[in-house]
Amino acid sequence: MSPSRPVSENAVSRRRFLALSGLAFASSLLVPKDLAFGAAPVPEKLPQNSGTFEVVPLPYAYDALEPWIDAETMHLHHDKHYAAYTKKLNDALAGFPDYKTRSIEELLHSTSSLPEPIRKAVRENGGGYYNHTLFWEMMGPGKTQPAEALANAIQKTFGSMDNFKRKVAGEAASVFGSGWTWLVVKHDGNLEIGSTSNQDSPIMSDGAGVSGKPILVIDVWEHAYYLKYKNERSKYIESWWNVVNWETVGRRFSEALPEN
Ligand code: MN
Repeated sequence: MSPSRPVSENAVSRRRFLALSGLAFASSLLVPKDLAFGAAPVPEKLPQNSGTFEVVPLPYAYDALEPWIDAETMHLHHDKHYAAYTKKLNDALAGFPDYKTRSIEELLHSTSSLPEPIRKAVRENGGGYYNHTLFWEMMGPGKTQPAEALANAIQKTFGSMDNFKRKVAGEAASVFGSGWTWLVVKHDGNLEIGSTSNQDSPIMSDGAGVSGKPILVIDVWEHAYYLKYKNERSKYIESWWNVVNWETVGRRFSEALPEN
């Protein structure tokens, strides 16, 4: 969290936001001892899911990403699409008390072993909840730059920042239908670019297309860009680089690296 971000009015949402944003994987118990970029200290124990997932407020104003992403798109995307995933996730879990209190990371990590009646709903709506909560945090109004460690890793892996952006853009442009393009840290600490379909996520253990700890993600569903960019996904992707919050990406990179 950058210190300039507004504090949520809702303490529960705030805790959940920190849980999602500060810790990549609840289930792996990777609690980083030192966080870069002056982020808030991470609690020793993860907050428990109270049984209802909440719509996390945007950490900036709806029009904060203009002219790159318009306020109307952000209203629809956050207040309608994201809220709908959240509600449907809660609805699916309502009759399954054993699963209601699991973190979203735990639920997604074990989608294949969930009870059959909720497996599909959790995969789709839990994925939608997790992916979007990350996506809001990926963006911000201020111009930021990748921290040195991340910039070096990108340089080493992809040759240059320009090459990296080209590769992400190419990957995002090639997603057939709806999905997401990710930069993840793999188990060996290396970076990888990949995509998932629908609301699948790299933290799912089965068939997600790319696996690892997500540090950057772009939503390439049409609802993310169609109002402003119509069918021109590549123009949306090109614009999107102007709103990337590199502080978030860099913090997640530091947290995702395997411990030495
Ligand atoms: Mn979306």
